[in-house]
Parts: sequence; structure tokens; C-alpha cells
Amino acid sequence: MFEERLKVLFNKKIASDTYCLGLEAPKIAGTAKPGQFVMVRIRPGYDPLLRRPFSVAGVTGDTVHILYRVVGKGTAIMVDIHEGHVLDVLGPLGKGFVTDKQGGKCLLVGGGIGVAPLYFLASTLEGKDVEFLMGFRTSQDFFVYEPLAGKGFRVSVATDDGSKGYTGPVTGLLETSLERTEAAPVSVFACGPKAMLRRIAALCKSSKIPCQVSLETTMGCGLGACLGCAVQASFRERERYLYACKDGPVFFAESIDWSVF
Ligand SMILES: Cc1cc2nc3c(=O)[nH]c(=O)nc-3n(C[C@H](O)[C@H](O)[C@H](O)COP(=O)(O)OP(=O)(O)OC[C@H]3O[C@@H](n4cnc5c(N)ncnc54)[C@H](O)[C@@H]3O)c2cc1C
Repeated sequence: MFEERLKVLFNKKIASDTYCLGLEAPKIAGTAKPGQFVMVRIRPGYDPLLRRPFSVAGVTGDTVHILYRVVGKGTAIMVDIHEGHVLDVLGPLGKGFVTDKQGGKCLLVGGGIGVAPLYFLASTLEGKDVEFLMGFRTSQDFFVYEPLAGKGFRVSVATDDGSKGYTGPVTGLLETSLERTEAAPVSVFACGPKAMLRRIAALCKSSKIPCQVSLETTMGCGLGACLGCAVQASFRERERYLYACKDGPVFFAESIDWSVF
């Protein structure tokens, strides 16, 4: 893990309220694994007081890419960051997706800005059977992250209002895909809103499919000190709580107590 002052290479709008930020970050680029995240100090001083966590969405050469959606004070400030700006960043942090024991088809399921860590994951799965399912509220929220465009992944899009692709939640696409897959080995990797993850965890449990989820919980320090990112563990874990920053943010779905998540 490094704490560095990093030069911003670009910060461009790619969809409604959604931006792609590029950082010149050779050390993080050289070590980050899909599913890991960085903690960004939005600006010098104490307002906002806390760093904000963002998944590494991709790495090209020495450049680390972050995809972010404007939801509040910190991300609104980020919109005005320009090329040449310097940001204080901690990372890479957390535990990422486990792919070494994985065989068969990879189903990546992202909801909204939850597609970010899955883009990085997809970039490391080239040559495997990968299907990327993305869900957005409307076509205005949909985007294609350039470094992966044209890489040959099968991408299916769902929108809540039907303005692009399948009409309905992305979990509908997942159900169809799982029906088509039948008995062939498949693994699911997901990131997005809580309700989406809960549904995916239930689907995978009933079909006995390995499923890893990246949890975007509210997070204070990112280092395991403040314990603000606690999630209740399922009965199979020895600990009552798991911490998204140090035990995750990626977990096998069966580790989480979904009844209270
Ligand atoms: C490991 C991890 C990886 C993440 N990766 C990304 C990413 O790649 N791209 C991205 O856009 N966001 C990501 N997030 C979420 C991101 O950190 C928050 O959206 C951001 O911190 C909000 O900051 P803010 O100051 O703009 O919002 P605030 O002013 O702090 O909050 C505004 C609103 O957003 C809600 N909010 C704050 N944090 C979160 C959160 N973690 N999840 C859901 N709602 C939240 C608050 O409850 C509030 O309603 C990630 C979070 C975690 C824990």
C-alpha cells in the first residue's frame, strides 16, 4: 500500500453524473488487483474530512482509472478536478476477486457505477468465456469504458425504464443467462446496489453457483482502524462482523448475512 501525491491526467464526463478520472500512478498500477480500491483525499485540508473510497476500474500502463458517480459533496467537488491537479491517494487497499481457482464461464454483473471494479476484472479475464451484464436506471446512465471497448466481451445491458436493452433489473438478465448455462460450470462476480447483490446471492445459493460480491459500504478510513464498514457475517464465519476495507471489499456471497445487509 502506498500513500502518494498523484498527478491527474484526465477527468472526463462519460455519462450522466458519471466521470472517468485518470491518475499517473505507476506504483498502484503495478500492484493493484481487480476488486481493490484506493482512498482519495478530495482536496487538501479538512473539508471533506474523510478520504473517499473508489475501486480501481482499470490500469493502462502507469495510469490508474477511476470511474465515479456524483452522489454527494466529495464527488461533486471531484467534477472540477482538472489535468495537472495533484491528489493525495492511498492504495491499493483491500482484498480483490479470487480468480485463480476459477474455471468455466465468468458472469460479471454490475449495477450502475458498480460496473467499475468489474471492468478491471474483465480486463484480466481475456481469453476466458466472459459475459458482462450491466444494469442502469436509464440509457443516460449507460457508458462504455474505453480501454475495454472492442475487446470482444459479450455485453448485455438492462435499464429500469427500458430505454436501452432489456427492460427491468439486471438480475433478470442474470436469470436468463443462468438458465442458458444449465449445468456448465459458471462463476458470478457482482458489484452494485444492496438489493441487487442480495438477489444475486440468493440466486447463486439456490443454483449452487460460486459468487463473489464487492461491497461498497460506507467507509471511514479504509485501513481497518475505524470499523465503520462492518457488515454482519453469516453463521459460517468465525467472526460476527466482517470489515469491507480489510476483509473485503470482495467477499464470497455465503460469508455475508444477507438478512440484515
Ligand atoms: C470499496 C468501495 C469502492 C467504491 N468504488 C466506487 C467507484 O468505483 N465509483 C463510485 O462512484 N463510487 C464508489 N464507491 C462509493 C463511493 O465511495 C461513494 O459514492 C463516495 O464516497 C460518496 O462520497 P460523497 O462525498 O460524494 O458523498 P457523501 O456526501 O458522503 O454522501 C452522499 C450520499 O451518498 C451516500 N453514500 C456515501 N458513501 C456511499 C457508499 N459507499 N455507498 C453507497 N452510498 C454512499 C450517502 O449515504 C449519502 O446519501 C465505493 C465505495 C467503496 C466502499
